[in-house]
Amino acid sequence: MTTVNPVAPAAAIPSAPFRTEVPWTNWGGNQTATPAFTVQPRNEEEALDAVRFAIREGLPVRAVGSGHSSSPLVQTGGVLMDMSRLSAITGTDQSRRRARALAGTTINAFGDALWEQGLALSNQGDIDKQQIAGALATSTHGSGKDLGSFSSKLRWVKLINGFGEIVEIGEGQLRELRAAQVALGTLGVFLEVELEVDDSYYLQEQITYPTWEETVSTWQDDIDSNRHYSFLWCPEADSCELLDLPGSPEHNMANRSYTKRYNAVSVPDEPAISTREGARLDRSYRIYPGGFTTQFHELEYFVRSEDGLAATEAIQDLIRTKHPDQKYPVEVRWVKADDAYMSQFQGRDSTVITLTTKPGTDYWQFFRDADAVLQEFEPRAHWGKIHFMTRSRLERLYPELDTFLQIRREFDPRGLFLNDHTRALFG
Ligand SMILES: Cc1cc2nc3c(=O)[nH]c(=O)nc-3n(C[C@H](O)[C@H](O)[C@H](O)COP(=O)(O)OP(=O)(O)OC[C@H]3O[C@@H](n4cnc5c(N)ncnc54)[C@H](O)[C@@H]3O)c2cc1C
Repeated sequence: MTTVNPVAPAAAIPSAPFRTEVPWTNWGGNQTATPAFTVQPRNEEEALDAVRFAIREGLPVRAVGSGHSSSPLVQTGGVLMDMSRLSAITGTDQSRRRARALAGTTINAFGDALWEQGLALSNQGDIDKQQIAGALATSTHGSGKDLGSFSSKLRWVKLINGFGEIVEIGEGQLRELRAAQVALGTLGVFLEVELEVDDSYYLQEQITYPTWEETVSTWQDDIDSNRHYSFLWCPEADSCELLDLPGSPEHNMANRSYTKRYNAVSVPDEPAISTREGARLDRSYRIYPGGFTTQFHELEYFVRSEDGLAATEAIQDLIRTKHPDQKYPVEVRWVKADDAYMSQFQGRDSTVITLTTKPGTDYWQFFRDADAVLQEFEPRAHWGKIHFMTRSRLERLYPELDTFLQIRREFDPRGLFLNDHTRALFG
């Protein structure tokens, strides 16, 4: 770990543009806060100055990306660092398959910029609005049994720690890098990151609508033989509409799956691309994002992939027997194991089960029941979605928790970057 910039005196007020006591709300509208200061740094120096200002004034600090998390990660009454102006791809290396970007760069902004250099992100999730540091903080993922989360691709990071210093962590510091890969903003404010990426690739999409029995009969083959395989199981005929997904033109969607298969194909030239619904062929980064513009709230749990089918069927039973009013599709995806200490995928090839609910309705009993039903599978939870994780659960589920806690304290002994939610889990 290299300390780039030792502590210097802070200005009386942040040098970056700032506002006082402006209410903040997340994308889903279920998390709010009124920070004393909301600071928008335009460069590294302004970000550093804002953190040093907070240290001097005794104020806590949280960074915010695109605000797409629905767990209480961002709330603070102190200094909220809005990183949206720190946005740019800062370098690419085609031979090493690497890309560097400022922390506030959205996933969307990687698309064209990397493609021009013959590169592409290895995988993406359902949307591309998140800032890269926000996606890394919660181990945001797509689907594919051989594909890891964004965090699994982090190879270097420059951040501001709790002493108000800029430090760099690279592959030579694996102990710290594995903590930084999934840190929920608790190690400090990320300024710039380097990701391992792929050579650019085209994807052929295939959308199908099998019955549940058909989905089960090809379960393992679909997981094994597609680069990306995922599905959304529909409890009711009108489930797809709730997520603005096109249902089957021929079939009633009740107890059917909307399945997505994406496979890499070589394309002789760009005119070969196709925008035909359900069978698109395009640059990878244009295929992944699904839209999802209507607000919703989600709980997302991760089980070992060998338990994926049993866990999915347990959730189906729960909906049928106790919560028939829950009509949103249940999304099921796969993610490869990794080594990041607090990654949901640490040491476990995983099946991802996502439950979606309508804002403004009382979905808490449904989520609590789902949490209870899945306990036999020792589920981990998406840090950026609603969950019921506690410190004692983390102690059982994350074998490297103590190493992470030790590193967090080394980076931020006074807890500058903790809020109530993260203090309960990692304080
Ligand atoms: C419509 C929708 C679709 C989604 N699809 C997927 C999906 O397909 N796959 C998936 O895994 N998740 C998905 N998510 C969840 C989402 O990817 C995560 O919640 C992600 O963390 C949000 O990124 P963000 O930029 O909005 O970060 P925020 O929600 O703003 O922040 C998340 C965390 O990152 C920290 N952070 C942000 N910037 C920095 C920084 N510069 N330095 C340090 N810490 C920082 C924050 O403090 C916070 O702890 C989805 C969410 C929504 C609303």
